[in-house]
Amino acid sequence: MTLYRLDPAQQALLDRLGVLADAEIAPHAADVDDAGRFPSESMDALARDGFYGLTVPTEYGGLGQSLRVAAAAVDTIAQRCSSTAMVYLMHLCGVAAYNSNPAVSADQLRASAAGRHLATLAWSERGSRSHFWAPVSQEIEDGDDVILNGIKSWVTSAGYANGYVTTTRLAGSDNPMAISLYMVLDTDPGFEIEGPWNAMGMRGNASAPMVLKEARVAKGRSLSERGKAMDTMMGAVLPMFSLGNAACSIGTSEAAVQSTQRHLVNSKFAHLGQSLADLPNLRERLARMRICTDQARAYLAATLDAIESPHPGTMLMVLGAKAQAAEAAIEITDLGMRACGGAAFSKHLGLERQFRDARAMSVMAPTSDVLHDFVGKALCGMELFS
Ligand SMILES: Cc1cc2nc3c(=O)[nH]c(=O)nc-3n(C[C@H](O)[C@H](O)[C@H](O)COP(=O)(O)OP(=O)(O)OC[C@H]3O[C@@H](n4cnc5c(N)ncnc54)[C@H](O)[C@@H]3O)c2cc1C
Repeated sequence: MTLYRLDPAQQALLDRLGVLADAEIAPHAADVDDAGRFPSESMDALARDGFYGLTVPTEYGGLGQSLRVAAAAVDTIAQRCSSTAMVYLMHLCGVAAYNSNPAVSADQLRASAAGRHLATLAWSERGSRSHFWAPVSQEIEDGDDVILNGIKSWVTSAGYANGYVTTTRLAGSDNPMAISLYMVLDTDPGFEIEGPWNAMGMRGNASAPMVLKEARVAKGRSLSERGKAMDTMMGAVLPMFSLGNAACSIGTSEAAVQSTQRHLVNSKFAHLGQSLADLPNLRERLARMRICTDQARAYLAATLDAIESPHPGTMLMVLGAKAQAAEAAIEITDLGMRACGGAAFSKHLGLERQFRDARAMSVMAPTSDVLHDFVGKALCGMELFS
């Protein structure tokens, strides 16, 4: 965690979060995963202690913290429960969209700071799949309102969030990238959750499909100029999503390193008077896990530096950090499974949960495949969305 280079006040905040996470998040992680249920106890604790307002500006009652602190917070939570970390990250992404236009979202920013508003993104659609920059749903104008129809294929915290930052194509446009971005509230009529979430990993996320059926939203709820939301999506939300997603991968990897380390040191071959740690191949796996986790965290920290002191390569690092950490987490948790053998296969070490959870970050859009393609295209001087 020292790689984040937090100042003393930021570190004190993270220490407080670590204490909360040990007491009120970690104890529920296995049950949240087993039951595939929303991590209500964990989210209630984060709300109560002011962490919903982590990145809300102080003028709206929040803690006014930076992307660096947000990344360290997601990492800290993911070390205890990846599902909670992802739910929290999607809230921070919603807040990033709100922060881009407080004239529209001041009430939601204040409510977030008070722990009364949970936000999320409703971007992915059944038609455009992981290509969130090309929604097929299209708003219909009706006076001062727009009518929204469409199927949002995965929405983290579906049915639990209070605010859904929702994309749709501009009315009358045939350009899929002419996107409008609306704040849809849980009190609005015309949207429903299609069914329960039952997934391989991130089982506490409630990332269910959401159906918009003649949902009526005031044009004034648009978080950017209608049809021109790409700037907000890429400039304000993507850095939070990409770096927070990297932090979620890193926290999940860290948990796997620590479980593996404990297991190797404490598990004995009684007839030999040795532990698993006496086997050099297992020590080598543990060493690779440690190095790979540190590499991902160091790259994330370097990307946070690049955001604070921008240079021409900053955007490539923002894209690369998510892909690098996601792919590393898959490798690290796989090494942990193979280092700990049958004990990892059973549930008590937590490793098989981390192994399953780690796979989610790579398929969350922009997926690792797409990020590699974007970085490759940028390096070859090509348009990213061509
Ligand atoms: C746990 C979880 C939580 C989620 N939460 C949210 C949320 O809160 N809000 C939200 O909007 N969405 C959310 N999503 C959706 C996510 O962002 C992706 O949209 C979704 O995972 C894509 O799945 P798909 O099967 O539609 O992918 P597809 O688009 O069908 O991709 C299938 C495969 O093709 C590859 N591929 C696709 N395009 C390219 C390309 N151009 N080049 C190379 N390879 C490519 C992909 O990498 C993938 O391996 C969540 C997903 C998960 C798993």
